[in-house]
Amino acid sequence: MKYKPADSIQDLQYFGEFGGVNPSISDSSTYTFLSAKTMFDTFEGNAEGCYLYSRHSSPSNLYLGEALAAMEGTETANVAASGMGAITSALLQLCKSGDHIVCSRTVYGGTYAFLKNFAPGFGIETTFVDITKPKMVAEAINKNTKVIYCESVSNPLLEIADMEALSKISKKNNLKLVVDNTFSPLSISPAKLGADVVIHSLTKFINGSSDTVGGVVCGTKDFINELRNVNDGAAMLLGPTMDSLRAASILKNLRTLHIRMKQHSRNAMYIAEKFQQDGFKTVYPGLLSHPGHETFKRMMNEDYGFGGMLTVDLGSLDKANALMELMQERNLGYLAVSLGFYKTLFSAPGTSTSSEIPEEEQKEMGLSDGLIRFSIGLDNDIERTYSMMKSCMKEIGVLKSEMV
Ligand SMILES: *Cc1c(COP(=O)(O)O)cnc(C)c1O
Repeated sequence: MKYKPADSIQDLQYFGEFGGVNPSISDSSTYTFLSAKTMFDTFEGNAEGCYLYSRHSSPSNLYLGEALAAMEGTETANVAASGMGAITSALLQLCKSGDHIVCSRTVYGGTYAFLKNFAPGFGIETTFVDITKPKMVAEAINKNTKVIYCESVSNPLLEIADMEALSKISKKNNLKLVVDNTFSPLSISPAKLGADVVIHSLTKFINGSSDTVGGVVCGTKDFINELRNVNDGAAMLLGPTMDSLRAASILKNLRTLHIRMKQHSRNAMYIAEKFQQDGFKTVYPGLLSHPGHETFKRMMNEDYGFGGMLTVDLGSLDKANALMELMQERNLGYLAVSLGFYKTLFSAPGTSTSSEIPEEEQKEMGLSDGLIRFSIGLDNDIERTYSMMKSCMKEIGVLKSEMV
């Protein structure tokens, strides 16, 4: 049967302690034990179902973690207070001083900064490569390499990682393939394609209401237990713990993710096709012109489309800024970083979310000044949105009237 991650979310059944249709929110940092022996066993990790202390685990966090694991098709998961909390703890669990990571050169700015500037201080080195070229990935591996790290759809250039090819390389070299799937929840299921660890920033599409940050690491029971280990687990010892109230609210939002992703994808496809017809350099994985289109198509769970993210190059930062300001004035969206909101969000990644990447390197990877990254919203009438965007473009002079 075809894998439908949204079905796996729907099939879960959690009741509240009084039969509520939503699980009760755990409002405790610590838990009582009926016997001293059970407390000892729990510290040793041998008392399944017993809670110890909420930095280790809590019922609300476990519910959300299990729902996300079901979605990704992994054994289990551990939620974190932010996407970066998930990424850094997973990588610090997998890599120690002397170890090496092969990472896509186009990743989230925070991830890039962590690997480039922070991890070397702990003796962890990273080689950045063009992830769309599996041969380059293989060549970058050395005897100390432990991890291949990438985003299924990269931020902000929307490069598509061929997870099956990367997984082959990873398995052959006895490495872990770690994939950040933030841009393509439901659409792509990295674990089904061979990824060992799947990470999300829940802040984006999964929560979808831009009211919290959150993250998750999905993986095997063994790996998640390692992360939570009281003696040497990065999640336990670094403490990027999500609050129970937030876990409960994200779980409720997760249940409409499939409906939202379909609408984000439908709207983004419409806008991308129009922008491309208007003669703009448009990058969207759903377009035939996208170099990763076929790879995405081969990997995708069809129902959910090619996602809500697209980029358009206006040629200069001034033009990009003028357009974003005007679109915001007309209430077509917000000039804001982040993604996955009901409203369209736009930003110029070169001067915002990817500003951690030096200008020279930005140029090299094709991140130009005039690039606008759009997270297309849930607009009910995308045709109207597009025609209003087009008026803005005409007004700032990037679209000649006779082209209309
Ligand atoms: C936002 C984002 C992150 C970081 O997540 P936070 O929740 O902001 O910590 C990581 N990866 C990608 C692809 C992102 O878009």
